[in-house]
Amino acid sequence: MRRLAVSLLLVLLMAGSVAADDANMVVITAKGKKYHRPDCRTVKQAVRTLTAEEARNLGYTPCKVCKP
Ligand SMILES: [Zn+2]
Repeated sequence: MRRLAVSLLLVLLMAGSVAADDANMVVITAKGKKYHRPDCRTVKQAVRTLTAEEARNLGYTPCKVCKP
């Protein structure tokens, strides 16, 4: 029963949390003002990995290709 309770708690946390979005890691490049998913096809060389929230705070906007 303990395992079930823990699983249930995790599901609730993931479903109801706004923080889940901000926990998404994104990458930025040396040029450009967009942030991307790490597997975005337009990213040739990421210079930094950060959270989407950090990227927005730094003035980056989401990439239209990978929609992070
Ligand atoms: Zn992208």
